[in-house]
Amino acid sequence: MLENPKDLIEVSALTRALNIFSDRWAFLILRDAFRNVNRFGGFLESLGIPRQTLLTRLEMLADQKIIYKRPIKEGRIIFEYKLTPMGLDLYPYAVSIWQWYMCWFPEETVLDSSLKHKNCGHGLQVMMKCQACDGKVEMKDIAIEAGPGAGMDVRPTQRKGRRSWGMGPDAEAQRALSVVCDRWNNLILGAIFSNVQNFEAIQNSIGIAPNTLSDRLKTLVEMDILKPTRKNSGSRFASYIPTQKGLDFFPCLFELASWGNRWLMGWNGPAAIPIHKTCGDILHSKIVCAHCKQEIHPQDVVAGNAPKANILVDLVSIKKEKIHAN
Ligand SMILES: [Zn+2]
Ligand SMILES: [Zn+2]
Repeated sequence: MLENPKDLIEVSALTRALNIFSDRWAFLILRDAFRNVNRFGGFLESLGIPRQTLLTRLEMLADQKIIYKRPIKEGRIIFEYKLTPMGLDLYPYAVSIWQWYMCWFPEETVLDSSLKHKNCGHGLQVMMKCQACDGKVEMKDIAIEAGPGAGMDVRPTQRKGRRSWGMGPDAEAQRALSVVCDRWNNLILGAIFSNVQNFEAIQNSIGIAPNTLSDRLKTLVEMDILKPTRKNSGSRFASYIPTQKGLDFFPCLFELASWGNRWLMGWNGPAAIPIHKTCGDILHSKIVCAHCKQEIHPQDVVAGNAPKANILVDLVSIKKEKIHAN
């Protein structure tokens, strides 16, 4: 049976990945899995997540082959949940989210600010580099070419998730994480990073309802991730461009889309191929330590006991360096 064209959207590795990582719970379960939390009770205690939500998410992540579940002892009904190779490959995404969050919400406590790179002993700071030329990668250095997997996907059904983030002392921090882990917000940012910046164009490109789009844009502007622009003033719809805070989020989306390209595109291969304009090669990124420049692996990152103030000093100095470099 032919699909109604209205139910189709362009194949995108990012969209497919965001059908899995659609809110902060999926991300926080992933974070905990990287911190070696592997029992149901461990996740429950660490996240303060409703039991049923946790069960649903763990089952979804197991169905998607990101984690696997196995009984701890034969005949026992206690299970452990561990990352598969596909799940472990999400580390560059997880650590990029952490980096963005620490850079822009250093005073918040939802994510661990004391992480250290064991290899060099410095407080963790990461950056995205090109595997081919070892150059630093920024959004402006990337061109996108169509890949063999280009085509149409059936639009996923829109889940009506409640967007609640509690009332505790860290409610604001929870909200920030909810915003940047929200599926629609990520798709909107993905469109805007691809130069689809006009309200109507974004709506058509990602298949979002206008009221949902207005709502999400309002939040992204309030959070200083996007700003309205007069560009394309011929249109009756507003356009939006990323602020510095928005641009800094680019590696998170790039890493998630790259992971989607590696694992979710099937035999057809990627729908879009990123080219690093600086060297001309297909862009395979790597996430390296900003201090020692070694590639970051989960086993090399530890929670340090450094006073938080020291980490803040680190962040401030890095941000200053960055400003001077621009
Ligand atoms: Zn390169
Ligand atoms: Zn290092």
